[in-house]
Amino acid sequence: MSPVAPPPLSEAGTALVAEVISRLQGVVPEDRRPALLHEPSLRGTRAWEYTRECLDSNWISTAGAFVERFERQLAEITGAADAVAVVNGTCALHLALEVGGVEPGDEVLCPAISFVATANAIRHAGALPHFVDVEEGTLGLDPEALERRLEEVAELQRDGCRNRVTGRRLKALVPVHVFGNPCQIERLVEIAARWRLEVVEDSAEALGSWRDGRHPGLFGRVGILSFNGNKIVSTGGGGALITHDPELARRARHLSTTAKRPHPWEYEHDAVGYNYRLPNPNAALGCAQLEVLDQLLELKRTLANRYVAALEGLDGISVFPEPAGTRRNEWLVALVLDAPDMALRDALLAALADAGLQSRPVWKPLHLLAPYRDAPRGPLPVTESLHARVINPPSSASLVGEVSAPPQRPPSDDANGSRP
Ligand SMILES: *Cc1c(COP(=O)(O)O)cnc(C)c1O
Repeated sequence: MSPVAPPPLSEAGTALVAEVISRLQGVVPEDRRPALLHEPSLRGTRAWEYTRECLDSNWISTAGAFVERFERQLAEITGAADAVAVVNGTCALHLALEVGGVEPGDEVLCPAISFVATANAIRHAGALPHFVDVEEGTLGLDPEALERRLEEVAELQRDGCRNRVTGRRLKALVPVHVFGNPCQIERLVEIAARWRLEVVEDSAEALGSWRDGRHPGLFGRVGILSFNGNKIVSTGGGGALITHDPELARRARHLSTTAKRPHPWEYEHDAVGYNYRLPNPNAALGCAQLEVLDQLLELKRTLANRYVAALEGLDGISVFPEPAGTRRNEWLVALVLDAPDMALRDALLAALADAGLQSRPVWKPLHLLAPYRDAPRGPLPVTESLHARVINPPSSASLVGEVSAPPQRPPSDDANGSRP
């Protein structure tokens, strides 16, 4: 039984819930239920082999060679000049904001629909989130709502952009590619340039997505990825910055390793740094999964197509369509109700849980969370509508099939650490 008693539903609502459950049971075979929302695909990869190398060689620290190898693989896959591996996506975002020039007391524009980490990282950098509405077409920041909000409260001054109402500097914009759906990032970057805002892309969920042939995270100055427990590639915990700017990457890597200058023995630290670098065994898990990323993306696309087919022709609910001009990674499938209806949404969630289909609503909008109730914000009608309409059903690649590592081990440098 579900822990929360579902609120009363109309007859039509009850019928819709029953129909959705019956159709979705056809997507997730009975022997796979209960199915989790999302689980990693480690079976079939070289994860075991690579982890064993870490243990057998004693290289379990951040100085192991899988860390740099993971960074090179990430750069190659995304087309970045460099990638900097860190302990999680929140730290990646914190560091990206800092190297992007965000300072304590600044305001940073971001969508109100995101995982809480987006706003938390802004606070960790000493700044305040300033929420802007999202759009129906991508679930990401709405360029028009952003423009309207800037025209309403922002003012360009000699030293950049300022919020006329609060007096704080508006320093950066953090677009989010929600569930791997690329947002309208070119337009957002163009607006940010006009208002002299840095763009720090939260592409935590978008590894393997593409928009017009470019990877999310590389449209602005710096972007981030997450490899937490349920992301498309999971290193247990992990994250990375990606960028076209080698100097920014150098600075971020330096700050992530306590800002210690290389020296055979002396402890010389030239800034207030962080202990953010990813340890070797976590990186080893990442290397093994990146080798099969294309297979993972294929499996997830197949699963998403099955959800589309299952709900075909049903009124009231559909699978959120791939935004035009993009190829998304299908990290989490999103089911969208035609109209906001919290009672229907919650009844559906309860019924999905009872049917062994672990599902989640979209995150509670950030401006409704206790720490962010007083944060500055524009009107958020689409955010609030989507809150009562969006549900993610089980989306693991393993519901479709297994990956298999390429028979030939990819060439690599010495997998055992070479630095102290
Ligand atoms: C997962 C996620 C993060 C943070 O990543 P962690 O690795 O969990 O710290 C940030 N933003 C978004 C949108 C995410 O989904």
